[in-house]
Amino acid sequence: MNEAVVAAGVSKRYGETVAVDDVDLSVADSEVFGLIGPNGAGKTTLVRALTGTTPVDGEITVHGEAPTAVDADRVGLLPQSFSPPARLTARELIDYYGGLYATARDTDDVLSAVGMAAAADSWYETLSGGQQRRVCVGIALVNDPDLLFLDEPTTGIDPAGRQSLWSLLEELADGGTTIVLTSHSMTEIQRLADRVGLLQDGRLVAVGTPAELIDSHGGESQLVIDTDQAAAAVDALTDADFAATPGSTEVVVDGVSPVEIGDAAAVLSTAGIEYGSLAWSEPSLDDVYLQLTGEAFAAGDADSTAVATPPDTPSPTGTESRQEGAQ
Ligand code: ADP
Repeated sequence: MNEAVVAAGVSKRYGETVAVDDVDLSVADSEVFGLIGPNGAGKTTLVRALTGTTPVDGEITVHGEAPTAVDADRVGLLPQSFSPPARLTARELIDYYGGLYATARDTDDVLSAVGMAAAADSWYETLSGGQQRRVCVGIALVNDPDLLFLDEPTTGIDPAGRQSLWSLLEELADGGTTIVLTSHSMTEIQRLADRVGLLQDGRLVAVGTPAELIDSHGGESQLVIDTDQAAAAVDALTDADFAATPGSTEVVVDGVSPVEIGDAAAVLSTAGIEYGSLAWSEPSLDDVYLQLTGEAFAAGDADSTAVATPPDTPSPTGTESRQEGAQ
């Protein structure tokens, strides 16, 4: 399989801060690769390194070339912080950015692909945060790239907007577009990514398919039993070889497969224990994240995080304006 992106021994320091620490990574053609990790883990810096918008130590190739040498028509970038000119309409912005490339997608197609056809003639500054982000996704897609870097593409977008953007990204992926995206939404990553890399303190500490990461780091499935007789329930379940631990009004049973749920319920009934509900859950990427980083997501998917949008200099790939610190 051809590699769209290869990084070997990539490091980036800002003064004393090691933002990216000796990262090796490869992304295959047509793969969707999700980068996750806590704030400050180095996701944005790594995306910037891969897109040639920040100099780094180590080797990076994109379609076999240095990131700065690769044909701009083939690559799309949605930076985390990107504010196009505010007094242009969504349509004018897509037109403008499309004009920076040798060939560009039809403006109306892009607007409808990102769900902005109805508001196409509104000034960017009058759009909601979610609509603005959709326009920015449209800008990243305007050159019909075969490799797309998206740094937190759906942050600030409402649930319906996220669903439609996910569908759009799935369509692009099905059509062969390689996508590298960062996200704080495990739902998003689990839905879109073929493989996931978890960055922590600049290091890539785990890489694999969602299923592989969940198998290795997600822990076991759990049955949570809501009962006021927790101690008696634990005794009965333990006697029946279930791994039960008590809470104040609940019992957690680890490693219960779906077919064993009925067995556990039968044990409770036989022992005369009353319970309110049985809730079974499989481990997910959230559990992987919690296990590896020690951090649970704030507010579920942490999708409510505000998008920082300092003014940017427009550029074909939406290069960020953030100032480089000490190299
Ligand atoms: P993430 O995207 O995972 O939140 P970043 O790549 O933005 O992480 O940041 C990684 C580390 O590098 C952080 O400690 C951050 O403060 C630092 N950093 C990022 N960009 C700069 C910069 N331009 N100047 C100085 N420090 C930076």
